[in-house]
Amino acid sequence: MSPVQSKTSKIAIIGCGEFGLSTAYYLLLAGYKSVTLFDRSTPPVPDGSSVDISRIVRADYDDVVYARMVVEALEGWHGEYSEYYSECGLLCMTPDGNPKYLADALATVSALGLPVMQFASGEDAAKNLHLHNGALQGLSGYLSREAGWAYASKAVGYLFNKCLELGAVFVPKAVSEIVYSTDGPTTVTGLKLEDRTVFPADLVIAATGAWTDSLVPLSSRTLATGQPVAFVQLTDAEYEATKHLPVYINFVSGFYAFPPHPESKIVKAARHSYGYTNYLPAISEQGRMSSQPPSVCYSQGEVPEARTHLPKDADDCIRKGLEEYLGANIASRHFSKARICWYNDTPSHDFLFDYMPGVSNLFIATGGSGHAFKFLPVLGKYVVGCLEKTLDECLLAKFGWRDEVIKTEDESRGGTPIMSLQDAELA
Ligand SMILES: Cc1cc2nc3c(=O)[nH]c(=O)nc-3n(C[C@H](O)[C@H](O)[C@H](O)COP(=O)(O)OP(=O)(O)OC[C@H]3O[C@@H](n4cnc5c(N)ncnc54)[C@H](O)[C@@H]3O)c2cc1C
Repeated sequence: MSPVQSKTSKIAIIGCGEFGLSTAYYLLLAGYKSVTLFDRSTPPVPDGSSVDISRIVRADYDDVVYARMVVEALEGWHGEYSEYYSECGLLCMTPDGNPKYLADALATVSALGLPVMQFASGEDAAKNLHLHNGALQGLSGYLSREAGWAYASKAVGYLFNKCLELGAVFVPKAVSEIVYSTDGPTTVTGLKLEDRTVFPADLVIAATGAWTDSLVPLSSRTLATGQPVAFVQLTDAEYEATKHLPVYINFVSGFYAFPPHPESKIVKAARHSYGYTNYLPAISEQGRMSSQPPSVCYSQGEVPEARTHLPKDADDCIRKGLEEYLGANIASRHFSKARICWYNDTPSHDFLFDYMPGVSNLFIATGGSGHAFKFLPVLGKYVVGCLEKTLDECLLAKFGWRDEVIKTEDESRGGTPIMSLQDAELA
């Protein structure tokens, strides 16, 4: 039975990234009348994960469940969200003889009937797609045509406004604590905010991304990992020569990059890797440390850290990848901006949509694991299905809490093994 008592239950959602907003939207569509959203800053939140000029949209997965969900999400990207989506294709490559994830992803998209074009060599791909001379040497792979990139911050801004139009209330304050019943920790009664006011709630949903393990006592069931992102400014001539390119990913080095953005002529390049940890004291449990993004107090006028450089291992990977994709001239240019952006990883890389064990009305919606943005048009439907326990049993299990957690390798990632951000900065 669903612990949500009625459509008039007072629901508090912490976090206005993709998970919180898409959940709010589908709750409101389902007729829930009282949905209040909390965040440290107004969406799109500058240091959240659901921001930036671009996120890859691809059905190229080794897991058919996510691939099918992408096909469903593509209806939204082709329809209501089309203004925020560019279907330029995705070029998936790996070094010759290293085809595991690539082969699995190719088999998945082919089975779903999505159009692909295979390349026996990098030269073949470079010639067909009009890349620079000498691009993609020693690589092979395929172009996935029904894929591209989403303008993440704008899509999130649009979804935020849709939630407000449907009646959601937004409170621009940080939640300092989840308040449990004085009878015991099996029920929550509301939230304590940064100004010490208490907001009473019948159901609390923590959609706090990389901050979740700190706010909710998850005992490190999710792990926040920092991922490097770099931005390179192109000239007008370079923009004209490269604007036709597909998004590019190398599933072994973890490098990926987008064609230059039409508004700024900036190329965004990054690494989908095991990432960096950053251990700080957890809010929820005294004495416990949890990996989380560096803290930013917006209410005290702080702004997220501005960077133009990355740790050396990331800088090396991104410059090598840029050389593969755009040539040495662009690859050697200084970064106009750089970021460490935070994934919230689960051990199996599956999303986590479930009640906190032992707490009847605290629900967790997180675990994006670096691949959730593309599901924005449909994600909340799955969250609400788990909340109401109406989703198919297999999916409830896939997105459910797991006591015994077996860490599985995410074959879509590449690059260096996990390390602390502090060690990486010093290297
Ligand atoms: C560098 C990078 C690249 C990515 N690339 C892709 C891609 O190409 N394709 C793809 O599909 N996915 C991609 N992803 C993954 C996707 O962006 C994330 O899975 C998704 O955005 C996570 O959304 P979220 O709502 O869980 O987190 P967030 O967007 O971070 O939202 C969490 C929110 O909670 C708020 N919050 C936290 N604690 C509190 C508190 N105590 N009080 C109030 N508010 C709080 C935060 O301010 C934040 O706004 C990428 C992620 C990163 C970091």
